[in-house]
Amino acid sequence: YDNVLYGKPVANRILEKCKQDCDEYILKYDRQPRLTALLVGGHPSSKLYIKNKQKAAKRVGIEFNVVNPVMHSTHEAIVDLIQTLNNDDSVDGILLQLPLPLHLIDQTENLIQMIHADKDVDGFTTENYCQSTTMIPVVDAVHELLKEIGEPTKGKNVVVIGRSKYVGAPIALLLSRSTVLSNELVGDAHVTICHRETPLDNFKMHCKNADIIISAAGRPRLVTHDMVKKDVIVIDVGITKSSGSNTVFVGDVCFDEVRKSAKFITPVPGGVGQVTVACLLKNLLTLANRRVTKAFMNEQTNNHT
Ligand code: NAD
Repeated sequence: YDNVLYGKPVANRILEKCKQDCDEYILKYDRQPRLTALLVGGHPSSKLYIKNKQKAAKRVGIEFNVVNPVMHSTHEAIVDLIQTLNNDDSVDGILLQLPLPLHLIDQTENLIQMIHADKDVDGFTTENYCQSTTMIPVVDAVHELLKEIGEPTKGKNVVVIGRSKYVGAPIALLLSRSTVLSNELVGDAHVTICHRETPLDNFKMHCKNADIIISAAGRPRLVTHDMVKKDVIVIDVGITKSSGSNTVFVGDVCFDEVRKSAKFITPVPGGVGQVTVACLLKNLLTLANRRVTKAFMNEQTNNHT
């Protein structure tokens, strides 16, 4: 369908650029940049996500390894592992795969913040988050997809469904920030954030009035045909494992029915997710290059003191 906005071509373009950057890095420094994933236990969806990231990393030429402590690992054990990776000079990026097992869930934020900002490939640490929330791969992916559509979002009614710190909130910020200085295509929209506590009537009314809906709730069948207007643009960020299966994932939007009214709509799977993986690897290369520069600068300073 020509109104379906697939992630693959966008992801491929980003990955091609990553490959060029990676080749250049290897040529210059005679080593592959390295991304280490920390997977606690063996959550089936997490394993699949890791596999996808691994595959893309291989294609680009990034070394990817998985540290996989047992499910019942203690908080202290994970802290130790993160610190070891922080201090390991051969590691350019650390990825803490979420969600953590139940007994560690309350420690998620604390463990995220243990990762050194220089190796924080997800852009979650306070230092990176405060500097720019568009470094977060899924936010960057939404940005890339909107740029692909090529329509300015200025003055448009946008509904973002979901308000979480690392997904909904930074996406809302991306769409509402001023573009006066950057001259960007994405930004300056009128953004409404809907969330769990938004009264259903309001929720439906805002969606019906939206030029662009970005759904990041993780609730299948949340956005239905009667809730959207003609020519709406829909970016479906939500991913839920459909019940009884390990491998079938669905988005928040009733794709088949909403597609009929949409100007553009992203599918799940095959939409935002693929672009997110590409954006993650883009970050890894940025971090790897930044680390070399920083080490060089430190050396210079030391030589002069
Ligand atoms: P979360 O559970 O932290 O947040 C969900 C948000 O949705 C909350 O703010 C909540 O208020 C809102 N919400 C829940 N039910 C709602 C309802 N019925 N009506 C309106 N709002 C509702 O999850 P998250 O980490 O923000 O992730 C959101 C979704 O995005 C998940 O499905 C996750 O798997 C997916 N995700 C996808 C990618 C990707 O690359 N495609 C990356 C990150 C997250």
